[in-house]
Amino acid sequence: MNLFTDIHTHTASPGHKAAVLDISDGKPRVPGMLYSKGIHPLFSRGEEALEAIDADAANGVLAAIGECGMDRNAPVSLKKQEYFFSRQVELSEKYRLPLIIHCVRAFPELLSVYKNMCPSETWIVHGYNNNREILEALLQHGLYVSAGKHILDPVSNIRQWIGLVPAEQLFLETDDSPVPLEKIYEETARLRGETVETLAKNVWANFRRTFHNKPQ
Ligand SMILES: [Zn+2]
Repeated sequence: MNLFTDIHTHTASPGHKAAVLDISDGKPRVPGMLYSKGIHPLFSRGEEALEAIDADAANGVLAAIGECGMDRNAPVSLKKQEYFFSRQVELSEKYRLPLIIHCVRAFPELLSVYKNMCPSETWIVHGYNNNREILEALLQHGLYVSAGKHILDPVSNIRQWIGLVPAEQLFLETDDSPVPLEKIYEETARLRGETVETLAKNVWANFRRTFHNKPQ
């Protein structure tokens, strides 16, 4: 049995210990995977998109809500993004599903929604690759951080700060990258000075604790 958990991917990759496939774009479901659905902040969507997420969550299709969040580079106004993001936070709470978050240059706004809404579900900032101050603020508020392909980039932020993430707040992912999940685990373990087995065990424990409502 494969040891590795992929918290966020856009590619059909069954065979991992667990993998959450983002089906927001209407991608077909793939047996052996878990699913997430959300409204990406880069796209402008209407109420019907929220209703579709609500329906899938109600039917027990989803293991998580997302990716969703806020992106200062998006063509959609931050105000509109915040509205849709908050509505998805509500769905995450209503169905007790963790939230997979995309955040670019909007971390103060993200934390302000967090403080206002006091969610009880886990918030996972996916593809984290920002500075130490933001990382520490997220961790202090109890958010989880997921690292992906940037861990292999010699000049990335996450490579520098991955050792600061407590074992119990860490996830790993492939997202839309063709880099094998194993490589991301190997490099992360090496940078953190732990074995791949220990890392995989910790991420799996986090997954089991967080995805308490997962289908099957
Ligand atoms: Zn993604």
